[in-house]
Amino acid sequence: MLKSLVKFLFFAGAALTWVLLIAWLVFGDRFERLLDERRAEAVGALADRYIASQTQSTSQTEVKTVAGLHDIEIEVEQLANNIFRATGVANSYLIQTAAGNVLFDTGLGTQAAKHKRILQAAAPGPITHIILSHSHADHIGGTKYWKAEFPAAKIITHRGFIDGQRYLLDLQDHFWNRNRLLYTFMPEQPPAPDAMFAYGGIQPDELVDDFNQMQFVVGGVEFVVMPSPGAEGDDNLVLWLPAQQTLFSGDFFGPLFPMLPNLFTLRGEKFRDPIAYIRSLEKIIALEPEQVLPSHFDPVIGKSDINEALVLMRDATRYVHDETVAGMNAGKSVWQLMQEIKLPPELEVSQGHGKVSWNVRSIWEYYSTWFKFESTTELYAVPVRTLYPELVSLIGDTQPLLDLAQSKVESQQPEQALHLIELVLADSPDSTQALQIRLQALESLLERAWQTTSNFSETGWLQSRIAKTEQQLENLVTE
Ligand SMILES: [Zn+2]
Repeated sequence: MLKSLVKFLFFAGAALTWVLLIAWLVFGDRFERLLDERRAEAVGALADRYIASQTQSTSQTEVKTVAGLHDIEIEVEQLANNIFRATGVANSYLIQTAAGNVLFDTGLGTQAAKHKRILQAAAPGPITHIILSHSHADHIGGTKYWKAEFPAAKIITHRGFIDGQRYLLDLQDHFWNRNRLLYTFMPEQPPAPDAMFAYGGIQPDELVDDFNQMQFVVGGVEFVVMPSPGAEGDDNLVLWLPAQQTLFSGDFFGPLFPMLPNLFTLRGEKFRDPIAYIRSLEKIIALEPEQVLPSHFDPVIGKSDINEALVLMRDATRYVHDETVAGMNAGKSVWQLMQEIKLPPELEVSQGHGKVSWNVRSIWEYYSTWFKFESTTELYAVPVRTLYPELVSLIGDTQPLLDLAQSKVESQQPEQALHLIELVLADSPDSTQALQIRLQALESLLERAWQTTSNFSETGWLQSRIAKTEQQLENLVTE
């Protein structure tokens, strides 16, 4: 009797151990994964709330700004019976089919775990493909969470994504420090490689390149992944759903629609190829989209409005490109072309993100590098500013320079005033008068920017310089 009880307990215990072991093997990972996602959601929500409180939209116009992106609520919208959008700084899209779901972009890291949870609640089902529009951090943040739950899901990117991710990671500190000048709420250091919101680590399973698009069918729905290098980098792609005449445009158009493409980024990413952008636009125009679903801000609906906007963007870019090339061939200087080239009235389009004069310079340097053949000194590591202190001491007094700078501000020549102030500050970095004139010059440039393009890189930069100058002046008073 006792023997059989012991035997029973032994086998029952062993069976229970096995059951627990199997349960842990099956659900342990799942439990850990869910814990990871909930933790990321909680930390992300805190980070987002802080960022939103630090980025009060300062725009004086209707132009949507980068700061405005942080005011967007995170929620799910159903855009068609099979299309779901999770909103936020960047959108994540889910296309539902009878044989599994397809994702297009996975959002900003701090918002991505929530995107996943609410998209899955709205449209449950396994994920078959994760398509990433490009390698920028705000479009790929949730990929690791989705891939952890659905390891068989195929990550599709442009071939350029691999090098795009490599390059952004290699220069992470460089870009981070530049961005911190504009967004002072950013922590001092970028996240460590193993941190919660660390950038990188995505390994695509399938690649498209500039000469090959990819077509596949899931649950009877046809998907066409098209390369679209150009405006936001050479690793851009878009997704086309032929049956619904719907284009998931990623960041191809940038944050505004329509707008002049941003061939130049203030933080200093590689030049964007204007002709690649025009070619990509040609392909998109030929699709005749009924709706465009961008990865920032809201859907654009209506075939004829969309077509008109696409043609405008193409023609405006073509115009700026051709005028720049013609000017280069005519022997004009880059500075002259930056001043001369303006969009004709019929090609007026928002310069909120891409600015004509900056695109002119970008096209110039993209085609002909930084050596302008203006002076031998361009070739050597001794810029004219190294002579400023000696020049000022030759003059013997900074006052004439300050007076001239003041008169330049008053005659609406703030750029010239800034040059003169740099001379003075090289000699006397704590000159209150110089800082005050710099402040006036910066404010005048900001005013001009608001009245003309409202370009948000330009206004953001000027605002950050104004804040810095005010801080320097304040420090001088308290010292
Ligand atoms: Zn983006």
